[in-house]
Amino acid sequence: MHVVAEPIQRLIDAFNRLPGIGPKSASRLAFYLLRAPAEQVQELAQAIAELQGAITYCSRCQNLTENDPCFICQDTQRDTSVVCVVEDALDVVAIERTGAYRGLYHVLHGAINPVAGIGPEDLRIDALVRRQSQEHFQEVLIATNPNMEGEATAMYIARLLRPLGVRVTRLARGLPMGGDVEYTDELTLSRALEGRREM
Ligand SMILES: [Zn+2]
Repeated sequence: MHVVAEPIQRLIDAFNRLPGIGPKSASRLAFYLLRAPAEQVQELAQAIAELQGAITYCSRCQNLTENDPCFICQDTQRDTSVVCVVEDALDVVAIERTGAYRGLYHVLHGAINPVAGIGPEDLRIDALVRRQSQEHFQEVLIATNPNMEGEATAMYIARLLRPLGVRVTRLARGLPMGGDVEYTDELTLSRALEGRREM
């Protein structure tokens, strides 16, 4: 027997599966939407429905984008001699927010994680190596997260790229170990960018 009507329960369950939303928040959101203006609910439903169809991967940097190539790859003001390698699209947002970096990006969409069964072939590493031989970067700055998976990924990429004669650097220490690039404050992240070290 359901305590709440089935359509409400279905929405609560859907919210509950989202990251960072527990059962309480899920119920609150569902009941909020039940009483919200119809246009607001319509707008939210449409945004969700159209999200995946409207977003694609940039064929150059693999970032999520509406247009291919993405706006960063299309920007002629960027420094094309350096590429910053990140795990996720949200890391690009965090680094852009610092204003301390003007180069290009390459998004891996994850990190090597043997426990979760994620190997190098599941990431956009091949595409990065291909880019290096086509775009001839002078520097590859690896900005994967300062945790075990991020470090393993950085080492793996450095090993692949070094024989190609490119300078491979890593964000400076100072990022909290076990932390996330995405959640690092702008000042710490700016310093980590400026203080990057050779790998
Ligand atoms: Zn791009």
